[in-house]
Amino acid sequence: MLQKLKDDTLDQYKISLWVYRIDLIHPQVSGNKWYKLKYNLLEAQKQGHQKLLTFGGAYSNHIYATAAAGKIQGIETIGVIRGEEHTPLNPTLQFAVDCGMHLHYMDRATYREKKSPEVLNTLKQIFGSFYLVPEGGSNALAVKGCTEILPEVEESFDVVTTACGTGGTLAGLVAHLPAHQQVLGFPALKGGDFLYDDVEQLLTAYYTAFNLPRETTQNRYRLITDYHFGGYAKKKPELLAFIEHFTTQHQIPLEWIYTGKMFYGLYDLIKKNYFSPHTKILALHTGGIR
Ligand SMILES: *Cc1c(COP(=O)(O)O)cnc(C)c1O
Repeated sequence: MLQKLKDDTLDQYKISLWVYRIDLIHPQVSGNKWYKLKYNLLEAQKQGHQKLLTFGGAYSNHIYATAAAGKIQGIETIGVIRGEEHTPLNPTLQFAVDCGMHLHYMDRATYREKKSPEVLNTLKQIFGSFYLVPEGGSNALAVKGCTEILPEVEESFDVVTTACGTGGTLAGLVAHLPAHQQVLGFPALKGGDFLYDDVEQLLTAYYTAFNLPRETTQNRYRLITDYHFGGYAKKKPELLAFIEHFTTQHQIPLEWIYTGKMFYGLYDLIKKNYFSPHTKILALHTGGIR
């Protein structure tokens, strides 16, 4: 759903801003996570796997969405959770368990090595064979799913914005959009510059997996790294105040981990004349509310 915003800041700086609401597509597998999982679930089934295993922190939206999607698609899910178990479970993990996900806790040192053959072999010894989805769900198939987020719209936007964690969603937008539309990513993590490498690697993986020519992509997007508010899931009073104001004014819910930081950053850039007057911006609402 495309929603046009109207407020004094947009009027004053002569900016047109639309929000594309993929937060509304599904009550549980909300937003970008649905697109990232779509082809992974199909591939798991195609390969005949009964189990899907993935990784995440205790508050991970990806764990939440994977558990819900697994239940819907009838595939067993295993969530390898960073750190030790805390009971009672937080709402994210309780929801995952209620969906039937099996939780496996991993100490932080081992978790850091989760991509190594040793750790994966240990997991295979415990769980048997499984389809592996990386932490945050980003791989070539996730990028393909994210190329389908934006429909072919008549309206031609100059800029498309998204919040970023692993950069998979951003990569999908870059692969999908014509070269004249710029994509701005707002990393929710500190030190977001490392994301350029990750996004380029994801794009390479995507073009390779689908036998597509590798397009030049570096100049098609930019990471805006100033709005992480101290790091992942960190918040500050001005961010919360902005979210409350925005939500009241536009009746669009935001959270402080991803979408709140993106909209805060976007409005701050507008007020700093980052965009020339009459720029048309499409902001992707990636979800995260439940
Ligand atoms: C997971 C998530 C993101 C980050 O997506 P990536 O593809 O990892 O960059 C952004 N917004 C919301 C609401 C999310 O849940």
